[in-house]
Amino acid sequence: MRADETTMGEAAVTATDLTRVYGSGDGAVRALDGVSASFPRGRFTAVMGPSGSGKSTFLHCLAGLDQPTSGQVTIGGQDLTRLGRTARARLRRERIGFVFQAFNLLPVLTAEENITMIAHLARRPVDRAWMTQLVARLGLADRLDHRPAELSGGQQQRVAIARAMLTQPDVIFADEPTGNLDSRSGTEVLRFLREAVQTENASIVMVTHDPKAAAYADEVLFLADGRIVDTLAKPTVDEILTRLRRISGPE
Ligand code: ADP
Repeated sequence: MRADETTMGEAAVTATDLTRVYGSGDGAVRALDGVSASFPRGRFTAVMGPSGSGKSTFLHCLAGLDQPTSGQVTIGGQDLTRLGRTARARLRRERIGFVFQAFNLLPVLTAEENITMIAHLARRPVDRAWMTQLVARLGLADRLDHRPAELSGGQQQRVAIARAMLTQPDVIFADEPTGNLDSRSGTEVLRFLREAVQTENASIVMVTHDPKAAAYADEVLFLADGRIVDTLAKPTVDEILTRLRRISGPE
């Protein structure tokens, strides 16, 4: 679908000088302090950093779930920070996929209904051929009638990934997607995300504290005190650990 050479290297998401200040006066917290980054299509990026370094705030601002105090976010060339609430919600439905640590499936809906929910909300026709392919690749073909409570954690997260990918978004934001999974299910999820980047030219931005998960990415951005303090291409677990130690400083 997106494996079109002309789109390779084009930015799916850009952040320019993003600042997010919570509170005011003496109690103000600069959760993001002038962050600029570009996330090309076909790239899997992991965002890491110590607790409180601004990872969630960064992801929320990139995804239009939070408004930065200043700076700009563009998705597919559209400036998110200039849109009103309704237009931002529409852009999220149409151009962004989300995968959360807690899966965030609707318990009363079946797996199939959960997968097609965003497309229905966006009033987009469901591409049945793409859906069948996705469901088969995620090993969910015989689970479509099940409700989330009847599925394992790994299966629920694969349903969430199918939901995120069905509308072929410009970017998928994943917030600790393996945080609630055992290591085998986590590995399956990461392998699938890795494969989606390669075969569909998908763009993924994943926040994680797990070096093993981050090592599936093409690049790791390291945040500390609301700034990008380091980047690592073609990461390995050992090198990620070394960089994290360097950022955290001596215990
Ligand atoms: P991380 O995801 O890396 O743990 P966060 O983005 O959650 O970091 O937080 C960055 C900083 O902003 C922290 O100091 C945190 O306490 C502060 N912060 C986050 N959200 C809020 C909020 N809603 N109100 C006030 N401070 C916040």
